[in-house]
Amino acid sequence: MEHFDCAVIGAGPAGANFARLAGARRMRLLVVDDDSREKPCGGLLSPDAQKALARYDISLPVSVLTSPQIFAVQVIDLESGIARRYPRHYLNMDRAAFDRFLRSQIPPGVVRVQGRCVRISDTGKVFSVRLADGREFTAQWLVGADGANSLVRRTFFKNDRLRFYTAIQQTFAAQDTDPFYSCIFDSETSPAPSWILFKNGTMLFGGAFPFAGSRTRFEAQKQKLVQHTALRAENFSAPMKTEVCLVASPGFSGFCTGNDRIFLIGEAAGFISPSSFEGISYALRSGEMLAESLLERDPARAYRRRTTALRHILYGKECKRKVLASPTLRRLIMRSGITAIRTKKTKP
Ligand SMILES: Cc1cc2nc3c(=O)[nH]c(=O)nc-3n(C[C@H](O)[C@H](O)[C@H](O)COP(=O)(O)OP(=O)(O)OC[C@H]3O[C@@H](n4cnc5c(N)ncnc54)[C@H](O)[C@@H]3O)c2cc1C
Repeated sequence: MEHFDCAVIGAGPAGANFARLAGARRMRLLVVDDDSREKPCGGLLSPDAQKALARYDISLPVSVLTSPQIFAVQVIDLESGIARRYPRHYLNMDRAAFDRFLRSQIPPGVVRVQGRCVRISDTGKVFSVRLADGREFTAQWLVGADGANSLVRRTFFKNDRLRFYTAIQQTFAAQDTDPFYSCIFDSETSPAPSWILFKNGTMLFGGAFPFAGSRTRFEAQKQKLVQHTALRAENFSAPMKTEVCLVASPGFSGFCTGNDRIFLIGEAAGFISPSSFEGISYALRSGEMLAESLLERDPARAYRRRTTALRHILYGKECKRKVLASPTLRRLIMRSGITAIRTKKTKP
């Protein structure tokens, strides 16, 4: 059985960035990733994620980008009927192409294995990592970079307080609608925002919903969009693709960075914005923070300390989420027009 210094489960943005940085050192690193399914995602790269990539001297090939590019978000409040545009500089990307690009940056010395990790056990000294096809590896350290439904977190940190939603996203052939990135609020169907995005001739409609009745809530929101906005029922007919997955919402107490021998990064650690579900920047940064922390004498302590900054940002996002979830406060903010782009159009 092959032995490694460190086994990383998952090569999304968190795992890939960690492996890119830690793999450049003299560490025997194993990355196990099940890339058989594409990650459901809006594929918007936030300014913070862009900044992180710039710090790493990474620029993106144009093949990762999609059309149109986005420099504003249209916020639609379905309850009050108000719509406002706000400046936002996202990069509109093909998420699968972005993940492939990041993985291509992992140094050749890192051993990469495609497959699903189904069981991890701990002898107290080493971890044994078992794959669905029966292959088994051992490692001294374990990194859980396996996203919202993290096996590493579920196996070793059972009593945590991470909150989850069901994320549902459908892709349609784009019709003649205003190709704006829209962020939709409707407290009757979900306490979390939904989104409409356009990508290379397709329209994505997605959102995060409480588990109970998630599909019914999703469909009800579509109907409300048809009733209250310029979208028509035809815009939502014949979805080309329907994707469903868990999405984490950490609140104030859902974070877990691991312990002395197990480290959690990215969404597995709870690092995702509860107000917008923007998670790529936190995945990149927590991967980087762990790679730096492993150079210190007490990596667990160093990693906890470094990620304090991420937790503080996300506490702020949780406060924002609570404000935006209140129809009254949301209406007041949107009516005030603070930071909004002046347009003649105020109806969705
Ligand atoms: C519908 C939706 C839309 C989103 N839109 C955006 C957006 O537009 N912009 C943004 O910044 N964020 C967005 N997010 C959040 C963002 O996708 C995540 O926060 C981010 O991908 C987290 O990165 P990660 O590396 O921690 O985990 P992931 O990206 O989830 O990567 C985990 C990896 O681990 C692998 N894996 C999992 N379990 C196992 C296992 N047992 N064995 C082997 N491999 C395993 C998976 O296959 C995957 O490759 C969205 C999330 C959802 C659900």
